[in-house]
Amino acid sequence: MVGSQIQIFGTDDASLNKAAKLLKSGELVAFPTETVYGLGALATDERAVLKVFEAKGRPSDNPLIVTVSSVEMVEKFVGPINSSGKALMDAFWPGSLTLILPIATSCLPNVVSAGLKTVAVRMPDNAVTRKLIELVGQPIVGPSANISGRPSPTKAEHVESDFRYRIAGVIDDGTTPVGIESTIVDVSDEDNITVLRPGDIREEQIAQVVGPLSHGPVDTEKPKAPGMKYRHYAPLVPVVAKNGGVEDFLPYLEVDYPLAIAVPSTIYRALEDDIADHMNMDRELVLYDLGEDVKDFQHRLYGILRDVDETPAKELILYVPLESDETAGYLNRALKASSSFEDGL
Ligand code: AMP
Ligand code: MG
Repeated sequence: MVGSQIQIFGTDDASLNKAAKLLKSGELVAFPTETVYGLGALATDERAVLKVFEAKGRPSDNPLIVTVSSVEMVEKFVGPINSSGKALMDAFWPGSLTLILPIATSCLPNVVSAGLKTVAVRMPDNAVTRKLIELVGQPIVGPSANISGRPSPTKAEHVESDFRYRIAGVIDDGTTPVGIESTIVDVSDEDNITVLRPGDIREEQIAQVVGPLSHGPVDTEKPKAPGMKYRHYAPLVPVVAKNGGVEDFLPYLEVDYPLAIAVPSTIYRALEDDIADHMNMDRELVLYDLGEDVKDFQHRLYGILRDVDETPAKELILYVPLESDETAGYLNRALKASSSFEDGL
């Protein structure tokens, strides 16, 4: 069904009041966080939550994250929090850490957690959104505000382009600083704490608070974070993930079809110089600068994955670093977007 066009809200009080009113009446409003934009719906309203699955085209066995503005709100809706969960909230909230907790006395509808006995909760590091939740007075669900399978949105414009006639509004607070989704940690069994999805908050930082984490065998048939089994974050253009230095990327300048290349600043500058020096560019080449370090890569990745579909490029060559605690979040998203991986070493 085609509805009316999405409303773009500012971050002033009057706008937040309007957005809160829409949420309270069961409408969908996308909101900013430090990671990516979330698709908000009143978590206590089953019909509103079902609309989120429908609008995103999200499989109903992929549970949602519940977004809160205070720790008290978690206790009120899912019951007492275990000591590891509390310690991690103290250390990282508000922030890009989602915690999977056992549901003690939930007053949230089953659809939120896809029938699981655990629930995912997060308090985002964005004052506008915490204020919005305060105004609503209830937690809101907040999966990434993209059509399932598309790159997550890091700007209000991305939300608008995916959901123009399908949701009531989006609160525009500029580009999200972190740029990839939260780290998800399962603390539902305190003797077996695991990272289900890497993000900007690293495993080592988490281990400093709760001790060494478990690394159980990953069962790909029945993943613990159900969303992990679905393809994610991909543009329409095929993506080739590639590690290496300048010499490994130079040969792509010779390719005779429209190509896009996304590389760290040092490689970017070298390729630009090479193009200026030697090539007669009678074909289309799009060069993206991923930035200086992995924080920049995270911040820019999804914008590039969306932009490349607007170019004539037939393929995107995407730089990936080697795996480490620091690169895990970026690498996870980059590889999920990729159809193949070339190791340049
Ligand atoms: P998104 O909201 O799109 O960032 O995705 C939320 C992620 O949280 C998905 O990968 C879900 O599978 C995961 N998640 C949500 N609730 C749970 C839960 N109770 N147990 C495990 N993973 C969960
Ligand atoms: Mg998502």
